[in-house]
Amino acid sequence: MFTGLAADRDELPALLESVRRHAEALLGALDEREVLPAAPATPGAVTLPARGVGTRAALEEFARRWEPGLSSSAGPRYLGFVTGGVTPAALAGDWLTAAWDQNSNSSLDGTGQALERETLGWLRELFGLSGAHHGTFVSGATMSNAVGLAIAREWLGERRGVSPAEEGAAALGPVRVLSGSPHSSVAKGLSMLGLGRRALVRVPVLPGREAVDPAALEAALREIDGPCVVVANAGTVNTVDFDDLRAVAALRERYGFWLHVDAAFGGFAALSPEHAHLVDGLDLADSVCVDLHKWLNVPYDSAVQFTRRRDLQAAVFQNAAAYLGPLGDTPDTVHLTPENSHRLRALAAWFTLNAYGRDGHREIVERCVACARALGEAVGDLPGLRLLAPVRLNVVCFTLAADPTAERLADLAGRLAPDVFVTPTVYDGVPALRAAFSNWRTTDADVRRIVTALEEALR
Ligand SMILES: *Cc1c(COP(=O)(O)O)cnc(C)c1O
Repeated sequence: MFTGLAADRDELPALLESVRRHAEALLGALDEREVLPAAPATPGAVTLPARGVGTRAALEEFARRWEPGLSSSAGPRYLGFVTGGVTPAALAGDWLTAAWDQNSNSSLDGTGQALERETLGWLRELFGLSGAHHGTFVSGATMSNAVGLAIAREWLGERRGVSPAEEGAAALGPVRVLSGSPHSSVAKGLSMLGLGRRALVRVPVLPGREAVDPAALEAALREIDGPCVVVANAGTVNTVDFDDLRAVAALRERYGFWLHVDAAFGGFAALSPEHAHLVDGLDLADSVCVDLHKWLNVPYDSAVQFTRRRDLQAAVFQNAAAYLGPLGDTPDTVHLTPENSHRLRALAAWFTLNAYGRDGHREIVERCVACARALGEAVGDLPGLRLLAPVRLNVVCFTLAADPTAERLADLAGRLAPDVFVTPTVYDGVPALRAAFSNWRTTDADVRRIVTALEEALR
């Protein structure tokens, strides 16, 4: 054995203890550390080591050269994009995922896969989905949307008497995918699947909203000859608007389309009795995307994909090999997802759901919503700022009251960055900033600190 490896193996308990202490220190500093460090680390030009320095020295070098530039994205005031943190239980689960290093994709070594299925059952319950939905873990909501659209593609093939999985997407002919305010990842998925970004047709939204106008959707459906795909949105990124899922699903009775719902983070509305009506009808979807590394607060990279047509999912993703089992009624994971080998991604979710249950995760969701509301009210009261949309759930979308150019907003975001990280957007043609609350650590004390930072930045 290489001497460096043998030395680390012999010293493993002490090494793990150093890493544990290191993690303890960084997590302890998370609430106070700059959210986005002013000076990003300078990588320098370090060449590939020939003999290596050993884990202890590698840790020191990481701490010296890279950590100062890393953002506090796991902390309470990183409100850019939609970013979750890591609950203590999820962290424990993730550490053990690497320690066990399972490849949970086949019943030939099936315990990891069984743990995934147990976790998927819990998640199905959490989001109010019925037993008709089967779930799989994927790496993120982009991949979850892509998998849902891949199943939709196969369903379109079924309707047209071809199999895109066997014959290629070209066998389908033109495809239309209708959506009101689709997330950018939907277009990426269509590009990956050979359907093309131009297959996406934007349907008008309700006045002053990001939710699709059901009458406009019906008009668009009437124009299309034959089956198509509708992507409904449950939680848009700018203003967290929700399509009326029941109204959209009702149209399916008449027009026969595949209904995919992108509920990447909006799906978590189901946890809060006050907001569950926003995702009423989610179970009616043919496929559903929910991210877990956002509001469930498990580490990257984790999301879930649910569908009512696991047979079509297996038609797309089956991986025939002499050493893998047949499809059967419950296909192995290897036959259901883009990945073949994958880490035991479910374990972090299993830990956090087991540790805190429905009530614990509901409290996270409700506290995030309360924080967003409080910030929304404060923004409304600040003379220099203007709220661009009501705070429907966990995102505050705001801009400068006067002359809101992208440059001035970037300057404002830059001045806020040590205290709070927010990301730019354009809403209804107006350059804006978004603050998205989805971290389990965030409290009203953070909101007060953000308001103070805003007041100072506006001076
Ligand atoms: C974040 C998000 C996605 C993409 O998720 P990733 O995890 O970044 O791949 C898709 N749809 C919506 C609505 C999102 O918020």
